[in-house]
Amino acid sequence: MTNEQAIKLDSEYMIQSYGRHPAAISHGSGASMYSLDGKKYIDFTSGIGVNCLGYADPDWVSAVSAQLGEIAHMSNYFVSPKTAILAQRLVELSSMKRVFMSNSGAEANEGAIKTARKYSRDKYGEGRSTIITLINSFHGRTVTTLAATGQESFHKDFGPFTEGFKYSPLNDVEALEAAATSDVCAVMAEVVQGEGGVFPMTAEFAAALQSLCTDRDILLIFDEVQCGIGRTGKMFAWQHFDSVKPDIMTLAKGLGGGLPIGAFIVGEKCEYTIGKGQHGSTFGGNPVAAAGANVVLDKVSSPGFLDEVTEKGRYIANAIKSMNIPYLKQVRSLGMMIGAELVSPSEGGAAAAAFAGLALQKGLLLLTAGSNTVRLLPPLTISTDEIEEGLRIFKATALSMI
Ligand SMILES: *Cc1c(COP(=O)(O)O)cnc(C)c1O
Repeated sequence: MTNEQAIKLDSEYMIQSYGRHPAAISHGSGASMYSLDGKKYIDFTSGIGVNCLGYADPDWVSAVSAQLGEIAHMSNYFVSPKTAILAQRLVELSSMKRVFMSNSGAEANEGAIKTARKYSRDKYGEGRSTIITLINSFHGRTVTTLAATGQESFHKDFGPFTEGFKYSPLNDVEALEAAATSDVCAVMAEVVQGEGGVFPMTAEFAAALQSLCTDRDILLIFDEVQCGIGRTGKMFAWQHFDSVKPDIMTLAKGLGGGLPIGAFIVGEKCEYTIGKGQHGSTFGGNPVAAAGANVVLDKVSSPGFLDEVTEKGRYIANAIKSMNIPYLKQVRSLGMMIGAELVSPSEGGAAAAAFAGLALQKGLLLLTAGSNTVRLLPPLTISTDEIEEGLRIFKATALSMI
């Protein structure tokens, strides 16, 4: 099949819910991806934070292939050894208590929301089910996680939405305290807002959030779907803070290294909140996805790996800053989660989507966040050569847009 044929099939038969690039991908290796017409792309996106080990990592491929040959699926009424090992490792890495496996980030967040509401109902009865989320957040595409998402643009067209969410600005302690009325059972937040434009939570806000939650028995839920699993230079982004620890954490994207998996992890308070028959998923914790996730955790927790993520992230962010791009407004980053905000086109700058589109033509994959931010989530294992090649294309793109 040619690139054009694949694109034609997609445009005729798929629901056109994505603004797709005109590239049909055949394979990848390291941090490089190839389209059917043989064009090479340096990947600064990891398939939106998923392919943290890059493409076709040999250890990951061999673990997943071996598992496929043994058993690809069993129902959740039996024990999956690889999944149980994965759960143990997640508990040890987070110092939390128990794990529920799902298939995606939205589903993991749904489970976290159910757990928080049930914890509160068990202990305090009705009328305490509101969850505070942050303005500019992103928590998923289901009806409930859209309601949780603190961006007005997501609250159109698909209502009625799930009730019981209210929104407060990131890094605003006063507003948070005002929002924490007696009907609130939980606060759910990304430690670094991803889709919203790469906005990290400050240590002061995290500390205030932690003490507010502890004082009032409000559950602290961290959505680590994008910023978790080494992305920011720590296994979990909340580990950048001292004395902050969520009651519930959600994971997905990077956890599987390329296969669909999600998880929510609970601490002591919610260890027994969900009982038999109260939550489930047919595919959740699939052994093939779990086999891949175990390899991801092997690598990301190996000595020196996270320091390298920090180094490479800093290098890329500094390189972009020093390109002297006249319409670059600000670079925000934590580890290899990097956002380059551009001056908006109306003020003489450039639109992020146009920037990413031009970079693609030149052979570099970039993400956007909002209309003005170019977002970079390179594979954590990206080589120095691939970083240099990607940055060279980034600079050429930037200069050709002046
Ligand atoms: C991507 C994302 C989600 C949704 O994950 P899906 O796997 O697409 O359902 C939720 N939260 C955050 C922070 C995300 O980045």
